[in-house]
Amino acid sequence: MKKIELSQGIIQYIFEPKIQQNIGNNIIAIINDDRAVLIDTGLEEQTKEVKNDLEESKITIDKVIISHFHNNHMQGLGILPDVTVYGSSHYMQTIDLLTPQCEHYYNPTILVDKSLTLEFGNHKIEMIQNPGHSLCTLLVKINEEFLYVADEMIFSNTGEPVLPRITKNDIINLYISVHNLRKYSKYAFIPGHGKIIYKQSHIIEEIKNVCRYLCEILSNDEKITVEEATKKCTCNFLHQEWHDNLY
Ligand SMILES: [Zn+2]
Repeated sequence: MKKIELSQGIIQYIFEPKIQQNIGNNIIAIINDDRAVLIDTGLEEQTKEVKNDLEESKITIDKVIISHFHNNHMQGLGILPDVTVYGSSHYMQTIDLLTPQCEHYYNPTILVDKSLTLEFGNHKIEMIQNPGHSLCTLLVKINEEFLYVADEMIFSNTGEPVLPRITKNDIINLYISVHNLRKYSKYAFIPGHGKIIYKQSHIIEEIKNVCRYLCEILSNDEKITVEEATKKCTCNFLHQEWHDNLY
């Protein structure tokens, strides 16, 4: 685990890939005095590491925002029984989709419908529904400085973009969601997986590349190869084999 202070009282915990090649995990801690809000918990052992690290500084985890209810973002809730959990009002649809793979799940204590702002000491944390990668995705804006983009865009820990892992039914939702991220491009983007992007021109180019890929698939009724689908992209996506899941 690596730990970076992004800004005063905002810590990024970075974990190396565990379940999937190239894909690490981020947990964000927003701290006010001796209390913390986490954005996502990662896997249970990752939550433990974060909890222990915060406890060494006498900080208690008070609240958790779940960006979306996929196991690798919420598993650690199992060891945080007393926290307030924020989640999208659409969380149950995600849980239903993942059943029976999802052995156990967690219910949010506070449901976020459209958007919700949480004032936490000097921090202003805004949760915004943005269905795409998951129906229950929440973007999290932190202090007009950062945007946690969940899995709407995925990167490796060294910053290479990862091809969206989707089925044909999800394409339009993901296109709308990623396209919508453009309006937040002045903020630094913190993905749920991978390296933060600070530069606005870089953010816009990454957004365009995902949209170009999805658009190319949408404009072809027939099956197209990953090379054809990415021909207008200015990057090389990792996990190009996921393109085959589409068909
Ligand atoms: Zn996910």
